[in-house]
Amino acid sequence: MVKSITETTTLHNGVKMPWFGLGVWQVANDEEVVTAVKSALDTGYRAIDTAAAYKNEEGVGQAIKESGVAREDIFLTSKLWNADHGYESTLQAFEDSLQRLGTDYLDLYLIHWPKDGFKDTWRAFEKLYEEGKIRAIGLSNFHQHHIEDLMTTAKVKPMVNQIEFHPLLTQEALRDFCKIQEIQFEAWSPLAHGKLLDDPTLKEIGEKYGKSPAQVMIRWDLEHGVITIPKSSNPGRIKQNSEVFDFELTSEEVEKIDALNRNERTGADPDNFDF
Ligand code: NDP
Repeated sequence: MVKSITETTTLHNGVKMPWFGLGVWQVANDEEVVTAVKSALDTGYRAIDTAAAYKNEEGVGQAIKESGVAREDIFLTSKLWNADHGYESTLQAFEDSLQRLGTDYLDLYLIHWPKDGFKDTWRAFEKLYEEGKIRAIGLSNFHQHHIEDLMTTAKVKPMVNQIEFHPLLTQEALRDFCKIQEIQFEAWSPLAHGKLLDDPTLKEIGEKYGKSPAQVMIRWDLEHGVITIPKSSNPGRIKQNSEVFDFELTSEEVEKIDALNRNERTGADPDNFDF
């Protein structure tokens, strides 16, 4: 059972990654992101998930500097955007992200989507990893077949796969595959992008523990051994989302939530996207 906000899982290369963090997609690169990230760090969050495509890396970097929390105590993730696939362009895009974030290394760098050319991109990831500029490298939005394809040329096995995961999309087959491969599964849109906040099953389970549907969904991720990065730009909800380490769901409750699955996406299918 994950018992604290700073508890970590150990990736297959030995790097420790927090189970819980803040996602900052659609948080504007101004006061909004600085306030959100500072408020999260102040609350005790130690992992931040951004991406070049979110256009808020500068604000994330500024917030980290102003927070007073040491850089090495924060697990910082960013992602390579689709326009930057390819060996040389990846090396450049990585340096640009570092510069915007005001740091000289990343804890985790992910290929955001499996665009054509991802094998060349991965070679650049491996070089940056071997040079010690990234502590762990991974994927996002890779189906099993994308991972298998990558593994035909990869020298370093990805450490993480960040995937859409919430009670409407439970991804059982991909989770099982990642587990066997020792690739840590990480949820994006763990709150179904706000879609399930009034769900009666989640409400009923939450009432038993004095928790909100959002808190129940976050706890359900942890019970499944899935890293979770709920987004909020509201300091009250940032705090609320972190108050999930003082209760545990029973296996019956986990199954009840699993049964909400409808294989329903809030975002694009990695086999069919046009961006
Ligand atoms: P989430 O599933 O985390 O849901 C966020 C929504 O829920 C916001 O509208 C937020 O509003 C609201 N919310 C948050 N906490 C609460 C609460 N306690 N009670 C009520 N409402 C709440 O959405 P995201 O889609 O942002 O996913 C999370 C993160 O995953 C992203 O920020 C990003 O880091 C990552 N991601 C990665 C993707 C990828 O392709 N790799 C794709 C999508 C997301 P408010 O801010 O007002 O609180």
